[in-house]
Amino acid sequence: MKERRIAVIEDESAIRRGICDMLRVGGYTPIEAADGEAGVAAARTSGVVLVLLDLMLPKMDGMQVLEEIRKSHPTLPVIILTARGAENDRVLGLKRGADDYVVKPFSARELLARIEAVLRRTPARPTVVSSVVAGGVKVDFARREVVFPNDERRKLSEMEAGILEFLTSNPGRVVTREELLTRVWGITADASDTRAVDMHVTRLRTKLTAPDDTITVEWISTVRGKGYMLGPTVAEAVLAEGNPVP
Ligand code: CA
Repeated sequence: MKERRIAVIEDESAIRRGICDMLRVGGYTPIEAADGEAGVAAARTSGVVLVLLDLMLPKMDGMQVLEEIRKSHPTLPVIILTARGAENDRVLGLKRGADDYVVKPFSARELLARIEAVLRRTPARPTVVSSVVAGGVKVDFARREVVFPNDERRKLSEMEAGILEFLTSNPGRVVTREELLTRVWGITADASDTRAVDMHVTRLRTKLTAPDDTITVEWISTVRGKGYMLGPTVAEAVLAEGNPVP
């Protein structure tokens, strides 16, 4: 699994260490910074998916750090670590482009929940992929073809390839049936049309299943009541391959 790095910009070492421990529990790799200048560099470290930012910092204050980060990384999620009662900071931070804030002191559970929520609603940078490989199975979008390890090949219809390509371009994001209709079919969604999407997804899943059933990669996950998303293993493969964090 690709390492998910989080920059922790906090000058109070006890708090910073506590946060880093929480992040490790949550499966993240913390990149620590004890002042504003180091914080900007930490946020720009390759592979950083989110920034936790204290506002009162030596060398460069949190608002300036936020501005610097926004110049180079306009969509990188930033959560502000704010002191209880510092309402103005919160408002100012959100106005300046922070994604959320947490009030100190917070529990690991609260912090990790906020991080997950922010990461979920941050639209994944669209990727342009020509092919994707997972569990030994390759999907070639240009040829609209599925290639199994035994070299068996199956053709995908334009719609099937379109659905998979769109999901692949949005790894980690739930895509609604309406959105698929709009983006793949090019039509304005109508609730009665959404069953057509389900039908194509069913066919697509069948085509992606190996003849001998030895390959059990879940290419497309159904998210109940919401839509579809790229299966977790495939999403990881896509993110590890061709979607470097700028
Ligand atoms: Ca501080």
